[in-house]
Amino acid sequence: MSISKLVKKGVKSAVWWELYLRSSASFAIMPSKAPDEIKSAESVLVTGANGFIASHVVSQLLDAGYHVLGTVRSESKITNVLDAHNRHENLDVCVVKDITDPSIFLAALETVKHLDAILHLAAPFSYSVRDYEQDLLLPAVRGTEAVLSIARHFHVRLVVHTNSFACIYDAAVGPAPEKTYTAADWSPLIYEDGMNATNAPAAYRAAKTVAEKTAWEYVQSNRDELGFEFVSLCPAMVFGSFLSGTEPRCIEDLNESNKIVWDVVRQGEGGLLPSTRAPVWVDVKDVAKAHVLALENRTMAGERLLLAAGVYCNQEIADVGREVCPKLLTRIPVGEPGRREAESHFNVDTRREAKMLDMEWRSLHDSLRDLIPQLFEIEKKGRL
Ligand code: NDP
Repeated sequence: MSISKLVKKGVKSAVWWELYLRSSASFAIMPSKAPDEIKSAESVLVTGANGFIASHVVSQLLDAGYHVLGTVRSESKITNVLDAHNRHENLDVCVVKDITDPSIFLAALETVKHLDAILHLAAPFSYSVRDYEQDLLLPAVRGTEAVLSIARHFHVRLVVHTNSFACIYDAAVGPAPEKTYTAADWSPLIYEDGMNATNAPAAYRAAKTVAEKTAWEYVQSNRDELGFEFVSLCPAMVFGSFLSGTEPRCIEDLNESNKIVWDVVRQGEGGLLPSTRAPVWVDVKDVAKAHVLALENRTMAGERLLLAAGVYCNQEIADVGREVCPKLLTRIPVGEPGRREAESHFNVDTRREAKMLDMEWRSLHDSLRDLIPQLFEIEKKGRL
């Protein structure tokens, strides 16, 4: 039976869950070893398959010949994901209503016999939240814990965890031009910092940091019996176009990172530019490619990678926007063409990652050339 037709069981009883925990304790213990390369035609679970980045990941996985099982949170999103990938024969989608509950997760995967790898992308990335613990911290941290338990249950060979530059950045250092971040840096934030944050971006950074630390701690403390390798990918702000069929229905529903671009280009020719807040970026196609490469490139096992093409400022978005969209000049602010804030910001060094991934980061010009016209289209369609 197709996984997308699976019947969801809802919350299992406490007794069932107790039995599950007992039985999982007796699973065969596998030795820790570097994973064999995960070859295409093998099965990959992608959590949050309807998301902006995940839809690109799914597309690239299918292109590379993998079998993909995506998870979404509601029935209606199954159709969206299947349609977005033209009902590809190697794609199935199932509903996991609550990724923080391993019993719900496991019930949704009840008929799945085998998984080779899990790419865990599902986590809230929204600054429009009220309760930082319920809306950001718990889904990120408990979702990670549940995914790791699922990984052990299925004896997968690899887990790729989508973390963030938020797990690397230290806001206390501020916009220091002398600071160059690499994947060796860690955000100092802890759970309580997220609970007590004065703004949603800080709570989000704490949620992502604690989730990543939770994963590494789990991996390290279960090293001998883990059975799978772990890769942490930490993308900077991800810009890029939506795959056809995955665009938000209206511009108000734009995802948090592309919203940064929209908030610049929508200001109008004489409009004021908002100040640059998160000055490190990467293109979505490169982020997706890194996820696929993690399955194939054994040198990435056990690594933490910062995925960033470089720094940008909002004036640069406006300048590139006016260059790549000459028909939209009345909509995109002029500002002070050529002015760059890079020297008043920190920097990033991802030469190690570029070498490991053997790829050149896409340019801001190329990324925005795809994205900006699409943003204006989304705005137009949303008004109809
Ligand atoms: P999207 O908002 O487009 O997608 C997020 C996905 O996570 C959706 O499938 C969403 O499901 C799911 N999700 C959100 N909240 C929950 C929750 N409480 N429980 C279960 N699933 C949830 O975001 P992106 O594609 O931009 O982000 C994907 C991942 O990449 C996230 O982990 C994010 O933190 C990370 N990331 C993103 C960056 C960016 O700039 N975009 C930068 C660095 C990291 P639903 O649609 O049902 O809400």
